[in-house]
Amino acid sequence: MEIEKLARENIRKLKPYSSARSEFSGRAEIFLDANENPYPSGLNRYPDPLQRTLKKKISALKGVAEENIFLGNGSDEVIDLLIRIFCEPIKDHIITLPPTYGMYQVSAGIAGVEVRKIPLTPDFQVDVPLILNMANNFSKLLFLCSPNNPTGNSLEKESIQYLAKYFKGILVIDEAYIDFSKQGSCIELLRDFPNIVVMQTFSKAWGLAGIRLGMAFASKPIIDFLNKVKPPYNINQLTQNAALEALGNIKEVQKRKEEILVERKILRQKLTAFLFVQHIYPSDANFLLVKVETPDALYDFLIQKKIIVRNRSKVLLCEGCLRITVGTPEENEKMLKALASYQV
Ligand SMILES: *Cc1c(COP(=O)(O)O)cnc(C)c1O
Repeated sequence: MEIEKLARENIRKLKPYSSARSEFSGRAEIFLDANENPYPSGLNRYPDPLQRTLKKKISALKGVAEENIFLGNGSDEVIDLLIRIFCEPIKDHIITLPPTYGMYQVSAGIAGVEVRKIPLTPDFQVDVPLILNMANNFSKLLFLCSPNNPTGNSLEKESIQYLAKYFKGILVIDEAYIDFSKQGSCIELLRDFPNIVVMQTFSKAWGLAGIRLGMAFASKPIIDFLNKVKPPYNINQLTQNAALEALGNIKEVQKRKEEILVERKILRQKLTAFLFVQHIYPSDANFLLVKVETPDALYDFLIQKKIIVRNRSKVLLCEGCLRITVGTPEENEKMLKALASYQV
């Protein structure tokens, strides 16, 4: 498959901005090339536009070569860039599989790109034959989310692999919750398929939603396009510093993640006991999708108690459901206590 041919013509032809820091990135004593302020503040210099130190660490951790890594201002920036690289407004479209993460549709909407929706099956899996039937030459991007938000389940690996093989556009696999999952990452598929993008993020298991850092793993042609189109200094120095610190402290991140997994199990057990809880879906993520008798009333009740969950009860296939993030043991206890005082 030729990735080049999938990209928009204007992007293929684009001559990217060449920043001072990318024209000269070697060692020197005096930098008078970027109109920076010479007085040191720790942050007076522009950051490395390609975040090489950070990518080295991520490369070692994930077993992916640096040239196959792109870093975005959150995964949300990667989603936006991919749509703008591959989708010609009005002509091309993306495919999403609702119920799923809302940003795919919003980014497409901003770019003036059509969204074709092929719902997940009732057990929240991918309808592979239907997708391949519906797809055509204008289906440039197919977004899969695994584990899926808001349903919490992982998509079957065989389905993902089959789509990677037979879908003729770019398959984007959003793994924002992969660290909480029993199922392994699709990063291993990168070896065989030049048309997939695996997205991960520092926002969930890493506990760094505030720094806005998303990762994309893909073949070199796709990474090259992302680098060509991104704002030159899209990952600021503070973010790079914070991520490096976290990468030097992986044991702590792991420990927190394990605690969340233990808490997820406890929360599931305790929620099951409430009569108004009709179903708790299996979760491979740090949240539970919970079907309740009176979702809107329960949602409002929790707000009164100053506890905010996500009301997904109007979302296709999630009728009656609230999405509840696993909090600290104390937070979860407080929520359970509030629920115990709820009268249907
Ligand atoms: C939370 C989340 C993200 C994270 O996006 P960032 O921009 O990296 O914070 C991405 N995808 C899904 C499905 C999510 O739920």
